[in-house]
Amino acid sequence: MTGLTNLAAGDVAAQGLMVKAERVCKNFGHVEVLKGIDLEVQQGEVMCVVGPSGSGKSTFLRCINHLEKVDAGRLWVDGHLVGYRQRGDKLYELREKEVAAQRRDIGMVFQRFNLFPHMTALQNVMEAPMLVKGESKDAAKARAEQLMERVGLSDRMGNYPSQLSGGQQQRVAIARALAMQPKLMLFDEPTSALDPELVGEVLDVMRDLAREGMTMVVVTHEMGFAREVGDSLVFMDGGVVVEQGVPREVLANPQHARTQAFLSKVL
Ligand code: ADP
Ligand code: MG
Repeated sequence: MTGLTNLAAGDVAAQGLMVKAERVCKNFGHVEVLKGIDLEVQQGEVMCVVGPSGSGKSTFLRCINHLEKVDAGRLWVDGHLVGYRQRGDKLYELREKEVAAQRRDIGMVFQRFNLFPHMTALQNVMEAPMLVKGESKDAAKARAEQLMERVGLSDRMGNYPSQLSGGQQQRVAIARALAMQPKLMLFDEPTSALDPELVGEVLDVMRDLAREGMTMVVVTHEMGFAREVGDSLVFMDGGVVVEQGVPREVLANPQHARTQAFLSKVL
């Protein structure tokens, strides 16, 4: 563990940050997918992550959300070391229940909307608070109705996913994630599966969320969104952060050849 800050110091440094990654590594078999990711996300920050396919963007989001285990390095979310508890100078793996408790505060939206097909839009949004938090049906329904209105779908609450467009389904998926009142929202290419004319309505909802102060990490190819809404832009390639900075500056004046090559293809 040489080169890492000691745990206590890392814990202190992670306070006040929503995410702190320190040399985060992840392998699948003998393939190194994340090769030492260092980054910090402040409370209220919108970080956009871009990079070529296969560079490890989804894997990194999945580590933040406990869907993958970090193999080396350390990752804190909201000041808590992901997956571990410290006693003295030893680390203990969290039990499944404790992991679930950590995950509750993180919302995630995927490229494929993954709504429950046999439930209406409203029921999709009500489900997790009732199931996971034991919220009453009335309370869950009241919040779900508010959230459906917030994503512009108050007239679609009784529709099943198959009766909704891709853009509408993705807005329901965002409402569903918000129903758990997360502190952090992760978006993994939320508009990549949508027809071009439906992209804007989803980005608008995300823009509103950012304006309201939600902390967000957004993997996206929408450079306009990154420029306008992002507080920071991270360019990942080959499992490392190649470059990061203020979106406008990185996009206008990329410093690294790999960033330049990538941006020349997508801009
Ligand atoms: P990105 O989101 O940037 O396109 P990913 O994080 O999805 O990249 O994938 C990075 C690399 O990790 C790819 O080479 C991918 O094939 C590999 N990978 C991702 N998930 C798994 C897995 N569960 N098992 C094996 N390899 C995986
Ligand atoms: Mg991906």
